[in-house]
Amino acid sequence: MSQLLRIKCPSCGTVQDIAANGPCQKCSTALNLPEDGVIQIYRMGSPLGVAVGMSIYLNEVPLGHLANAESIRIPVAYGHYKLHMTHGMNRKCKDAEFDVTPQERIVCLKAHLKMGLITNTVVIEKVAAETMPPL
Ligand SMILES: [Zn+2]
Repeated sequence: MSQLLRIKCPSCGTVQDIAANGPCQKCSTALNLPEDGVIQIYRMGSPLGVAVGMSIYLNEVPLGHLANAESIRIPVAYGHYKLHMTHGMNRKCKDAEFDVTPQERIVCLKAHLKMGLITNTVVIEKVAAETMPPL
C-alpha cells in the first residue's frame, strides 16, 4: 500500500503519485496538493479480471488506474464529488456521490466488480474508515 497522493498536473495533465508538494515528473510545473480533504479508494481483491486496471474518473476528470487489491489517496478541496470507475472496456458502473466537508474530511470508498450475465459492473460504495485496509 502506498502513502503517496495522486494528482493530475494542471499544466500537462500527467497523472502521478507524489509524497508532497513538488515539481511535476513530466513538465516540472510546481504541484500543490489540495489540503482540505482526502478521498481514499480501495479496490477489493477479486479473482475476476485481476490483470485489468480500473480507470478512475473524479467529477469526469480521469485520474489514472487502480490495480487489484490496491488503494490510492486523492487529495481534494471541499466540495461535491462523483466517482466513476471503469474496468477495461466495461463502462458500466454504479457511481458514488459524496461531499468532502470540514466535518467529513476523509471519505473512504471501496470498489468491486459485480458479475452480470453479459457484462460486469463496477460498484463503488462509501464505507467506514475502520473497514479500510491499512495504508
Ligand atoms: Zn506536468
